[in-house]
Amino acid sequence: MVCERMEKEIVIFPLPAMGHLNPTVELGKLLLRHGVSITILIYESPSIDSKHIDSYISRVSTAHPNISFHRLPSVSLPSNSESATFLDHFHLTIPHLKDYLSASSARAIVLDVFFDDALEVASELHLPCYFFFASSASNLAAFLYLPTLHNKLNASFKDLGDTPIYFPGFPCSIPASDLPIRVADRSSKMYKAMIVQYERLAKSAGIIVNSFKSLEPIALQAIAEGDCIPGRTLAPVYWVGPITANVGRHKDSNNELRHESLSWLDGQPSGSVVFLSFGSMGSALPEAQIREIAVGLERSGQRFLWVVGGAPLQVANGSSVLTNMKEPDLDAVLPEGFLERTEGRGLVLKSWAPQVAVLGHAAVGGFVTHCGWNTALESIVAGVAMIAWPLFAEQRMNKVFLVEEAKLAVEMRGYKGIVDATEIEERVRWLMESEGGKELRARAAAAGENGRAALRKGGSSYNAIVEIVRSVRIADSVGLRTSDER
Ligand code: UDP
Repeated sequence: MVCERMEKEIVIFPLPAMGHLNPTVELGKLLLRHGVSITILIYESPSIDSKHIDSYISRVSTAHPNISFHRLPSVSLPSNSESATFLDHFHLTIPHLKDYLSASSARAIVLDVFFDDALEVASELHLPCYFFFASSASNLAAFLYLPTLHNKLNASFKDLGDTPIYFPGFPCSIPASDLPIRVADRSSKMYKAMIVQYERLAKSAGIIVNSFKSLEPIALQAIAEGDCIPGRTLAPVYWVGPITANVGRHKDSNNELRHESLSWLDGQPSGSVVFLSFGSMGSALPEAQIREIAVGLERSGQRFLWVVGGAPLQVANGSSVLTNMKEPDLDAVLPEGFLERTEGRGLVLKSWAPQVAVLGHAAVGGFVTHCGWNTALESIVAGVAMIAWPLFAEQRMNKVFLVEEAKLAVEMRGYKGIVDATEIEERVRWLMESEGGKELRARAAAAGENGRAALRKGGSSYNAIVEIVRSVRIADSVGLRTSDER
């Protein structure tokens, strides 16, 4: 006799990089509240910073013992595959994934979008397969449209310069040169994989997106009306965001371990500090750029908290983490005497700030950001206005959404090259001192509440989580996966 477990088990298989792992763990926590059990699968790849992932997992396991982590056996590539990526390791892991799922009591799997190849494994096992999309609804709309656009164009985006490209889900065109590198060359392996990836997503049991209904109306409408995959049917889409750590914490929340940046902020007037941080790859900024930022900040006369480098992670509240980066030598990169001259009104951190807590601090009045999607959501939830300075990946697309549609950010115009000190000074002053800046800050302050409301009982994102669990139960009750298949 097969013993039926009380709870339906949902297996989540995230990309083990913090921008993906962290929101999927948060998704797991939301699902747990609705009577399912959660197992998160982890696989290892040398291109992934396992030390920091390990410490993150151990913190989550301690704080949330009802989330199980399971490590798939590690794999090794042939010794001649020097340029192997995390995806090459993932492909070798697929048979282990299949073994695990076959022996488990899983009723559904949630895959990171990058792991679309595993959709076939799920179908063989008759297991409903959902995808977790860690970026915006606008980007989902654009990428779902990619296979259609591919058939309409006969050139690569990289050869189209600033030609405007129109995607459903965006309020305006995007210059071809602002599209992510992985779609730049239509003959590349990466581009071809993207086309297949988004065709697969459309055929899954559902796409779970870290955004919320009232935030991205243009993309939601484009997706709902089928503009992104003309003539074909799209899987159900679940808007479950904003999934960020500590969502719902209000300003001045107390952290168990107080980071020096928070103590410093305690001494600053309300809404007076400009926070600058460039995400987990921040130290990729060239030294010449770091110097321009310093000069611009000094001339602006504003208070600032500036994270110069990338960072080995870190973590006051068990939430944020980054990849392992070399710390900058501040004396070598900053203009001579900068730290002394700005002492008291500015704090420079080499590598890491507890971003969610910083954004939630009452002293923070504006944010210069690289527009990573997790960061954008964190800023929106905290009600902080942004200066959008995108660096890579789909950050330039996020900038279009934040500036043109949400109107929660103003663009750093020189983002395609080295932004000079004059623009930095002018932008920061505009945000903190001008009437226009004041309006932008007031708009941002109001926007956070919509995100929190979406997650409360009866809110749109709360209801979407209920719907996911219900759809898993329905699939299970119609015997999509019967007990004798385990
Ligand atoms: N982060 C942080 N402190 C830092 C820099 C980044 O806590 O000094 C966190 C930030 O809160 C966010 C994540 O790292 O949750 C970055 O994710 P995002 O998607 O914004 O960008 P990326 O990983 O591409 O840099």
